[in-house]
Amino acid sequence: MAKIDLVFNDIDGCFGNFKKPKTYPEKQSLAGHEGLLAKIKAFVEAHPDVKFSACTGRSLYLCDNIIEATGMNEVSAVEMGQEIYHPLTGECYGLLAIVRQDLAAVGTELKSFIANASSFEDEIKAALSNSEIKQMKDNRKMLTYEFKAAADGGVTGEQVYDFLNPRLPESVKAEIAAGGIKIVVSKNAIDVRPSIGKGEAIEHILEKLKRANAGCLGIGDSYHSDIDMMQRCEHVACPANTDEKLKDYVSQRKGHIAKQPFGEGVLEIYRTLI
Ligand SMILES: [Mg+2]
Repeated sequence: MAKIDLVFNDIDGCFGNFKKPKTYPEKQSLAGHEGLLAKIKAFVEAHPDVKFSACTGRSLYLCDNIIEATGMNEVSAVEMGQEIYHPLTGECYGLLAIVRQDLAAVGTELKSFIANASSFEDEIKAALSNSEIKQMKDNRKMLTYEFKAAADGGVTGEQVYDFLNPRLPESVKAEIAAGGIKIVVSKNAIDVRPSIGKGEAIEHILEKLKRANAGCLGIGDSYHSDIDMMQRCEHVACPANTDEKLKDYVSQRKGHIAKQPFGEGVLEIYRTLI
């Protein structure tokens, strides 16, 4: 059996099907998930020769209790790799200035813009009324809004961007044009974020740990958000609820596709591969 000694774990769709809290600063509720999270933690604690990292799009604010409840014990990546966090020491720092020094200054401008976005909160709500638009205030290094999708009577990400664009600092706009900051739109959310992600975070963590990716296992459920992480791991696996595109990738890599979904699937992967 493959010798695995480091596991990178996506959180949403892997450790559970969590419903995010409605309003900041409410924390993530773990109600209904405690039993499974405790089983994951028990597995982690029973395997001291293997280290476990989280690698998630969530802000640290919205996943610190999940990281704790699952016993994650190695350097982790949060906010889509924008921040690196060590659950055992509490060390937490931004990745952008380390891996893309050329973007450090504009990243700082974006960060201040995010911190001040509440100054036009009433305006954006009025301009996009009925969209239930809200800024995800737990994110520190990427600007994220969630809203009701146009198909449900809400708005499109493009409409949100049309509102934001004239308000963005010139340096941020210039970097959007140059590709150093990207706009990621889905049917009910928009992100404005520096173009580093989970892939750069994994590379950084491996370098920090002074090791290669041999023995690393990446577990994710979404092609869109996990492929960059999984491409950098020697072994890959996914729970049963994973999207088809990522399942195809995992089969091509001869990885393990669990029969069980979510946290049960992750436990199945651990028990099979570790
Ligand atoms: Mg996920």
